[in-house]
Amino acid sequence: MSKKIENIPWSKAEADEVYHISRWGDGYFDINDEGHLCVLPNQDENGPRIDIAEVLEEMKAQNIPFPIVVRFHDILRSQVKVINETFREVIKEANYNGEYKGVYPIKVNQMREVVEEIVDAGSPYDYGLEAGSKPELLSVLAFNDNLNALTILNGYKDEDYLRLALLGIKLGRKAIVVIEKFSELHKLLKLSREMNVEPMIGLRAKMAVKGSGKWSDSGGEKAKFGLTIAEMLTAVQILKDEGSINALKLFHFHIGSQVTDIRTIKEVMREGGRIFAKLVELGAPLEYFDVGGGLGVDYDGSQSTNDSSVNYKLHDYASDIVYILKEICDAEKVPHPNIVSESGRAITARHSCVITNVIDKIETSFTDYETQKVPGEHSLVSNMRELFDSLTIENAQEIYNDALDYKKECLNAFRLGILKLEERASLETLFWKITKKISSLLPEMEFIPDNLYDIDQGIAPQYLCNFSIFQSAPDLWAIGQLLPIVPITKLNIKPHNNGTLVDITCDSDGKITKFIDINETKNLLPLHELTPNEDYYIGLFMTGAYQDVMGDLHNMFGRLNEVHVFCDDEDPTDFYIEEVIKGSSCENVLSAMQYNPEAMAYTMKKNIDRQIASGKINPREGVKLVDFYEECLKSYTYLKN
Ligand SMILES: *Cc1c(COP(=O)(O)O)cnc(C)c1O
Repeated sequence: MSKKIENIPWSKAEADEVYHISRWGDGYFDINDEGHLCVLPNQDENGPRIDIAEVLEEMKAQNIPFPIVVRFHDILRSQVKVINETFREVIKEANYNGEYKGVYPIKVNQMREVVEEIVDAGSPYDYGLEAGSKPELLSVLAFNDNLNALTILNGYKDEDYLRLALLGIKLGRKAIVVIEKFSELHKLLKLSREMNVEPMIGLRAKMAVKGSGKWSDSGGEKAKFGLTIAEMLTAVQILKDEGSINALKLFHFHIGSQVTDIRTIKEVMREGGRIFAKLVELGAPLEYFDVGGGLGVDYDGSQSTNDSSVNYKLHDYASDIVYILKEICDAEKVPHPNIVSESGRAITARHSCVITNVIDKIETSFTDYETQKVPGEHSLVSNMRELFDSLTIENAQEIYNDALDYKKECLNAFRLGILKLEERASLETLFWKITKKISSLLPEMEFIPDNLYDIDQGIAPQYLCNFSIFQSAPDLWAIGQLLPIVPITKLNIKPHNNGTLVDITCDSDGKITKFIDINETKNLLPLHELTPNEDYYIGLFMTGAYQDVMGDLHNMFGRLNEVHVFCDDEDPTDFYIEEVIKGSSCENVLSAMQYNPEAMAYTMKKNIDRQIASGKINPREGVKLVDFYEECLKSYTYLKN
């Protein structure tokens, strides 16, 4: 049955044309001479590189089961540097008088190691943190101890939240409470009198401009957060009346994540810049202009306004913000404020990926069954065989329609008991043979008829991957977000098949059938033949923002094992693993769902004991079974490899 696999050599350029690594990789990824995907942590082809396959070998040597999340901390650091340097450069070039004072919104990836790395890499730039909830605020207060960096506090706030913020001020931090809802202002003023501390206040504006892309509902008049112009004017008046106007430091808006179109940035800057300037003219001593998040990531590399792409680069984004704000401030004769952005996605998306091992290749179109004519066979089978024999490039469309009809009739006849099992097997095999032959004819066709367009997906093999989409790529399933997906090895060999990916959940949504391409998407991913005793790994890239921390427990597949990789400063071709974090065990996910694993083990033991007592299981085996059950409770939730 096993056919000899032919390996055709493939160039880096050919591989890039299929997986578009140079387009989405932003200089962080490349293919090395062995055909392995590698990471260039400094976006420099001549700089250090980390061979991802070597990281995986190391994981195997340490007995860390797959799937795993691999974090490249150097990418994280580099992104922090890039955003700060870019804003500084543009500010200098524009003769802008304010500074850039960015903050990282931790909701995008709250992992402690990620936050710590960002704070550390950002310290030369006084890069700060943003929180949007009480637990996030608790974390931000503990981790952002740079007194020159901002701490920006968004989200709905109760009294405890506001007290914590004022505690930050008492510690000398620049903890700015952004008023998102009018009633928060009174609460904040009351508590600051009570705690005897001058607050730092920001106002979030509800903008008329809506974002573009999937998250555009964060902006616009119906937005959940923010003050209307009338509310902002009233707030300024109240602060003046209370003698607290000097506490008003920051103007803020956020129109949603992943803004796909640069025109939206320009528009919102024109609106925001004017509101800001007019508030300053009215006596609000605003020092900071906070543009929120929204800086997008080009997941599919198409540089378009697709939901998974953006039609601009970081430099364009920074330039629009700086130049438009300068122009408005100069025209309105108000000083240039410091500029704050709360970019999360752009900082973290690229630094982590999910790597899964392929367990199996599932053929949907099995054609090895014998289809020779047998005496007395049903006419439906004979008809299908005739279709196969008469198939040509000219009549392919017609033949395919007829074949679909016969296949349907076959099922009816079978249900009525008219068709034998062997006949149904023959007929279906002939159907797949027809489909495969048509698929092989497609490249020669000048025009591909509508009904033949998706024929490839029907016969394509499904690669069964050891992971759960719901845990590791929730946006892909929930909102159709695209992610770049690439095999880690064999990139110097031409892929043998076009396939789709399926995960190990028993949910029919647990599959990936849309892949990045330059124009539109493709419904099949070129992949290599599996060879016995050789691992084949597939990486889902750019999972570091949101995806990382949002995953759910569908089918109780838990958090993944994680490895934190650093580039070795001494040896640019080497790396070291600073940390391996164990993912969830079955016990962990069961407890999260209110089960009591100990009680479960006890119940199982009692059941097994009863069988032993009645002689149905021998005592030795019984002990082993009890141990086995307990061992499974402690083990990883994914398939053992
Ligand atoms: C989510 C959020 C961000 C982060 O947005 P990105 O597009 O990921 O950079 C920033 N600010 C606020 C207020 C947010 O809610």
